[in-house]
Amino acid sequence: MDTTPHGVPGHSAGEATLDRIAWLRLSSVALPLAAPISDAKVFTGRQKPMTEVAVLFVEIATEQGHEGIGFSYSKRAGGPGQFAHAREIAEQVIGEDPSDIARIWTKLVWAGASVGRSGLATQAIAAFDVALWDLKAKRAGLPLAKLLGAHRDSVRCYNTSGGFLHVPTEQVLDNAAASLGNGIGGIKIKVGHPDSRYDLARLTAVRERIGDDTALMVDANQQWDRATAQRMGRALEEFGLVWIEEPLDAYDVQGHAALAASLDTPVATGEMLSSVAEHAELIRQRAADVIQPDAPRIGGITQFLKLAALAEQHHVQLAPHFAMEIHLHLAAAYPIEPWVEHFDWLEPLFNERTTIRDGRMHLSARPGLGVTLTDQARAWTTATHEAGARP
Ligand SMILES: [Mg+2]
Repeated sequence: MDTTPHGVPGHSAGEATLDRIAWLRLSSVALPLAAPISDAKVFTGRQKPMTEVAVLFVEIATEQGHEGIGFSYSKRAGGPGQFAHAREIAEQVIGEDPSDIARIWTKLVWAGASVGRSGLATQAIAAFDVALWDLKAKRAGLPLAKLLGAHRDSVRCYNTSGGFLHVPTEQVLDNAAASLGNGIGGIKIKVGHPDSRYDLARLTAVRERIGDDTALMVDANQQWDRATAQRMGRALEEFGLVWIEEPLDAYDVQGHAALAASLDTPVATGEMLSSVAEHAELIRQRAADVIQPDAPRIGGITQFLKLAALAEQHHVQLAPHFAMEIHLHLAAAYPIEPWVEHFDWLEPLFNERTTIRDGRMHLSARPGLGVTLTDQARAWTTATHEAGARP
């Protein structure tokens, strides 16, 4: 399996080096959720309900006064680990040309090579990487999607946060209606309840409420075994779903491939994978009709773009996971019409709101990612670390 980073040290400073990174700040933010969240992983006893999201922000400034902001995150455990790794490698970024993003990514991977090219270490690197892309787009005066080369100015979007498994069915129906009323184009609900009849009854109620023409997806969060996924997959065919998400363990590539081959309903997976190499296996083995990479989880935008190129060549659909503030831009730049996942969880961290209407999420004219941190985000900051000197 080719897992990239070659990266020759080489000569980085020449006439083309016009600016250098002077300063950066890491912030660890503990974002509380309005209510504890449960999906199928909680119902099978593998996880506790989620009460907060740990977000790692990186803010970067250059000698010439350009700035960028990026973030990575973790749910449940891992936030302090991401922050600690970022803190260890932060000094490596100071003095680098902010335009040489891929080179910086490789340098940071080599700095922590013994802890690998996937998982927590690269998730820490992702926050730097996203900040550098934000900076580059801001300097160009362009929304990030436009810097990358957009295929569209808006992307189909669906809501996830209203359909969790702990939410009573009546409330799920109301949430779905509210999402559609707010201009969101599709509804995803969680399945994987220990009693499959519960899943099917709930899905029937949702389909009835939103009508046959509204896009509907389900997400089992990896909690079915192969036989259950096959049986449920067959039972779900009649609902005309856009996809069945994470029917199996995230690393069961062969199981996904067999299921995808046997069902008419598309199979989606990939949010739990933490490198391009892992996603490449899904694509090579035709294990997913829809891949769901998460840029912060696979090492940032630089890695996401490599994966997007591979996915396009194999005609795979794209529906990035979570972090819509980043993924709207990346989905807008993907050739095959994608979906973006609407989650309102991170909204308290940002001053800006994403425009949603007619079933789609719209890019704004704001350069870069188009986000700035709220005072509330600062108030929820539990640790910071600075490197370099602010210009
Ligand atoms: Mg999911």
